[in-house]
Amino acid sequence: MASVQIRDVQKYFGSTQVIRGVNIDIKDGEFAVLVGPSGCGKSTLLRMLAGLEEITQGEILIGDKVVNNVQPKERDIAMVFQNYALYPHMTVYDNMAFSLILAKSDKAVIKERVDKASEVLGLGALLERYPRQLSGGQRQRVAMGRAIVRDPQVFLFDEPLSNLDAKLRVQMRAEIKALHQRLGTTSVYVTHDQIEAMTMADQIVVMHDGVVEQFGKPLEIYDHP
Ligand code: ADP
Ligand code: ADP
Repeated sequence: MASVQIRDVQKYFGSTQVIRGVNIDIKDGEFAVLVGPSGCGKSTLLRMLAGLEEITQGEILIGDKVVNNVQPKERDIAMVFQNYALYPHMTVYDNMAFSLILAKSDKAVIKERVDKASEVLGLGALLERYPRQLSGGQRQRVAMGRAIVRDPQVFLFDEPLSNLDAKLRVQMRAEIKALHQRLGTTSVYVTHDQIEAMTMADQIVVMHDGVVEQFGKPLEIYDHP
């Protein structure tokens, strides 16, 4: 676990400024939700946390370390994407194990991490299946498994539920929340859905047009839930 600090961060694409001096403090173990309309800069901010997008100005710290110039794979983070990004030709087990294999982790460690993640996520019976043999919810769980096995200091979620139907979305909200309560990993979760923000966040960051409009606990932000 680690805190995340975003200090006076700005981002330009060419001459267009899309992040206009953002400050956000996320404490160790907190579940923070970035919410706001499409185009307000949420994904860009998340991608800068992941190291997938350069920071034009300002600083990002993970723990006490400035990560501006740290490559994505050297950052102690794992990201869960909207489109799952599973490898179609690999089993559930291999999908979860793959980044550890690339990182040349010990075989026993890989098995232990994958077994633990599949237990936490209820994937134990599905390890030999391929992504096309899974439901949407199961695929999303595998995507989370791939993040969990890395045992990161920070989880980044990029609208992970927006491809799911309404009923499954409600169920997965509860599952992600339960997972966070169990693992306690600092999490930054991006969504345009206020209900998701309201039900999942310890802290909500409301963004609008590249700035933070409001920051606080769900009941401070939405007083009429
Ligand atoms: P959100 O995640 O809140 O929908 P984004 O961070 O995706 O918003 O986008 C913020 C703004 O930056 C939008 O106006 C978008 O069009 C623009 N943008 C995002 N990525 C790029 C890019 N690679 N090049 C140019 N403009 C971009
Ligand atoms: P990709 O399909 O994005 O290339 P890989 O699983 O092939 O991902 O891993 C490439 C590198 O990216 C790995 O060395 C690993 O450190 C990093 N990586 C893998 N999965 C994640 C994740 N969920 N979040 C962040 N980084 C990841």
